[in-house]
Amino acid sequence: MKYALTNCIILNGKKDMEPLKGYSIIVDDGKIVEITNKKIENIKVINLENRYVLPGLINMHVHLPGSGMPKDTSRQNKESVDKLLSHKLTRYIVYKMCANFAKTELLSGVTTIRTVGGLANIDSTIRDNINKGKLLGPRILASNMALSVPGGHMAGVLAYEALDSASAIDYINKISETKPDLIKIMITGGVLDAKKKGEPGEVKMSAEIINAACKRAHELGYKVAAHVESTLGVKLALENGVDTIEHGAKLDKEIVDLFKKHNASLITTISPSIPLAKFDKSVSKATDLTQYNGNVVFEGIVSASKTCLENDIKVGLGTDTACPFVTHYDTWRELAYFTKYVKNDNREAIYHATLENAIIAGIEKETGSIDVSKSCDLIVVEKNPLDDITALRKPSMVIYKGKIIKKPKLKKIKYVEEELDKQL
Ligand SMILES: [Zn+2]
Repeated sequence: MKYALTNCIILNGKKDMEPLKGYSIIVDDGKIVEITNKKIENIKVINLENRYVLPGLINMHVHLPGSGMPKDTSRQNKESVDKLLSHKLTRYIVYKMCANFAKTELLSGVTTIRTVGGLANIDSTIRDNINKGKLLGPRILASNMALSVPGGHMAGVLAYEALDSASAIDYINKISETKPDLIKIMITGGVLDAKKKGEPGEVKMSAEIINAACKRAHELGYKVAAHVESTLGVKLALENGVDTIEHGAKLDKEIVDLFKKHNASLITTISPSIPLAKFDKSVSKATDLTQYNGNVVFEGIVSASKTCLENDIKVGLGTDTACPFVTHYDTWRELAYFTKYVKNDNREAIYHATLENAIIAGIEKETGSIDVSKSCDLIVVEKNPLDDITALRKPSMVIYKGKIIKKPKLKKIKYVEEELDKQL
């Protein structure tokens, strides 16, 4: 169906975007076919009544199996996950739950998600069913199961446990059979894995395993995203073929050079570190240890993001959804944290969450900016997000592949909202 979005102010998602008035966006068969200041005739008109329109957000770091509700994120174990997935009915319930979270991402204004650790082949199944029109949800770049090592991050839950290089290769082949879009590996531990102060990012995966996994993934045509939360971990990751560093840590000159040499990118995820580092312990239920390590990770992530920006290394944004207090409707908060802690520039936050994310994910020809021939993936908001980033909090319209969702309704958890709003 052909229609024109008129009477809007366009923010195109590019690095130098300025509000563009007086233009209409012509959409046909899900794509942007024209951006024009001519009078619209003989096409259905959708009057946006002077609202702002910008590209749909891209969330580069999503885990679908989890709501982000603090009580739901008490640690799952291998046994409980195996049990859930071994019965047809419980597996279907998990699938439905994940599909609903994907839908929530879309309704909140996120038109593309990249999953980085899921259960079995559920992420790619949801992706395929959205593409077939059986489910409502965003574009999904799916990793399905990740690769970890025994005792490593998410081992046995969202990730297989590689014993050595040969078993890493076997698991990459196994994940490949589920038709993912990328491979996720877990190189270091996380805040909740750490047993000692100062070592939230303890290296768990050997250089040999990282190397074998990346080599096999690249042979099969996949990029590799790696969970890394320490300086040594980032170095090992980049030396052995990882394409995107998820989270990050303080970077030295040698690491900056490695990023450039390998054309790697950083995915900044401030959202999961905020509750651990900044919330009152009575709210986050953090121990002294987790709060201390949460701060180490928070500072590492912010510092890595700044260093990469200063050195022209690509920085993407993701939320690490499903971590405690990180819900599927709060991608806009990652942009707010970026402006608060990394760079006080709303334009840049929007650029990184749209076009730069698309470039890192390799989908910039398809989405990420408002340009002719791209998919019509847009959000419409009431106020100018260049002046106030919270304008992104509640889109009045979401358009995905040309399909219009007016006044999307989201059920938000009140006390989580209240706690998070204290951090704006
Ligand atoms: Zn994650």
